[in-house]
Amino acid sequence: MLMGKNVKAKVALLRMHEIDSMYDKIRRRLLSLQRAVEGSEELDAARAQVDAIVQELRSAQSEQQDMELESRSLTERIRESERNLMSGEVHNPKELEALQASIEAMKSQRTELEDRSVERLVMVDRLQGSQKAEQAAFEELEQSWSKRKTALGTEMAQRKKEYVYLKKARQQVAEMLSTDTLELYEHLRRRKNGVAVAQLDEEVCGACHTQVAIGILNTVRYSDELLYCPSCGRILLTEE
Ligand SMILES: [Zn+2]
Repeated sequence: MLMGKNVKAKVALLRMHEIDSMYDKIRRRLLSLQRAVEGSEELDAARAQVDAIVQELRSAQSEQQDMELESRSLTERIRESERNLMSGEVHNPKELEALQASIEAMKSQRTELEDRSVERLVMVDRLQGSQKAEQAAFEELEQSWSKRKTALGTEMAQRKKEYVYLKKARQQVAEMLSTDTLELYEHLRRRKNGVAVAQLDEEVCGACHTQVAIGILNTVRYSDELLYCPSCGRILLTEE
């Protein structure tokens, strides 16, 4: 249970602990910034919405154009049949009747086409309205996302600087510790959820909140030996 050589080790351990706590916090923050900067789900959804409307609009427009072309070609065929009918070249009554019937059929087909074409035009009009509204909403989102992204980037740069600074500070503190103490610290950090040391909070371990025996308290406070918390196994250090 007894480790340690001098008070300096305790100071260094405490400093190491502080650095590592900040280090972990910054690393977590950097990870979440990284994820945040990669994209905005809200913006992606708005973009998809605009795309879907544009798609629908294009298909309605092309359907409407097809109907118009078909209607024009029907008009041509109707005219031709009517000319044929009026030319007096067809004498057979059955043939005349058939021609008449075909003209009627084409006319009613054209009427139906024109009705559907008007419906499509109304639809195109409505979709153009939605497209305008959704596009505006998207652009607004894009603008605020771009501002947010800039802010995220600024913070990320700042955190990276802090990260580098802490890395150097950690290196300096590590040099103050003996190889054994450093290994012990790293070993505990790996096993104890990233926290190798615990500061006393009056008579209680600051990490696991267990009451510490008076003999241990006194050793931690007044001697330079390193002791572990009997409950959580972390190196006990004095409250500041
Ligand atoms: Zn403890």
